[in-house]
Amino acid sequence: MTDSKASMQASADIVLANPRGFCAGVDRAIIIVEQALEKFGAPIYVRNEVVHNKFVVDGLRAKGAIFVKNLDEIPTGSTVIFSAHGVSKAVRAEAESRGLIAYDATCPLVTKVHIEVAKMRDAGMEIIMIGHNGHPEVEGTMGQIEPGQVESDYDEDDEVVATGMYLVETSADVAQLQVKNPDKLAFVTQTTLSMDDAATVIEALKAKYPNIHAPKSEDICYATQNRQDAVKLMAKDCDLVIIIGSPNSSNSNRLREVAEKQGVEAYLVDNASYLQASWLVGKKKIGVSAGASAPEVLVKEVISQLQHMGAQQVEELQGVIESVVFQLPKNLTAAASKKT
Ligand code: SF4
Repeated sequence: MTDSKASMQASADIVLANPRGFCAGVDRAIIIVEQALEKFGAPIYVRNEVVHNKFVVDGLRAKGAIFVKNLDEIPTGSTVIFSAHGVSKAVRAEAESRGLIAYDATCPLVTKVHIEVAKMRDAGMEIIMIGHNGHPEVEGTMGQIEPGQVESDYDEDDEVVATGMYLVETSADVAQLQVKNPDKLAFVTQTTLSMDDAATVIEALKAKYPNIHAPKSEDICYATQNRQDAVKLMAKDCDLVIIIGSPNSSNSNRLREVAEKQGVEAYLVDNASYLQASWLVGKKKIGVSAGASAPEVLVKEVISQLQHMGAQQVEELQGVIESVVFQLPKNLTAAASKKT
């Protein structure tokens, strides 16, 4: 470490992207778990990681949250919180049938996509989702179509009576796609995609299906857009970019890719202990940002470790000021006020 410090002592400065870190949906999801713990006491069960950040999840676990993959791991009658990524209709129904008391930390911007899917389905459309296979948000959004409705059903007059939903990740997937009726087709996207990659896939969809119906407003959320724009702006003047975020965080991975697409060496680190002194050798400007689920305390630790490795000045870039705040679920605030 000391050798590397000496070798890059030269003059690497740090620039901080703005905005970075927590978005309104992540803030809300964490507050929901904390309030549930405070008002109802431990244990509080959480289906999936409430947000994709190890530091946040470990902190909530230490306070008494129990994270589970499946609802059948939760004793009947317990309290469960659905993660910020949203859940399928089947999961909601299962929670009800098992007598679980559910509080929903689904980000309202994910819920907005769920509502779009429901409207498209009610209009008799088949729906294409652009997203990453296996991501919990994709499972939740695809799961807005009733189980058994994954393929479109047609009546004897060949009219759609139940719509299907298809998942595509790339333009190559679009080329392979076979739909029943190209004139009754709509698309939605995951909220945390790369804006540039999503634009390419949407272009391919529009070229193949000229009558495809687009969502009313952009599904990629404000926080994803602002953080990608900020990294793009920052990266063009940097020769190294560090993104703070957990490996399973979609939006954090996209930030690293955005920097890399600017031709800059870029790494995703969960925390300061993952930084390698060799990355800094010969570098002049190090850009730092954090995904929407990474807390500012981790940014501070990364800066301090970079300085320990020899980095010098820290400059905070100007950026969009975010003022979005989401309300807590009504059933939580009502239950919480009864208990106080
Ligand atoms: S990244 Fe966007 S969609 Fe996801 S929780 Fe934050 S605001 Fe909501």
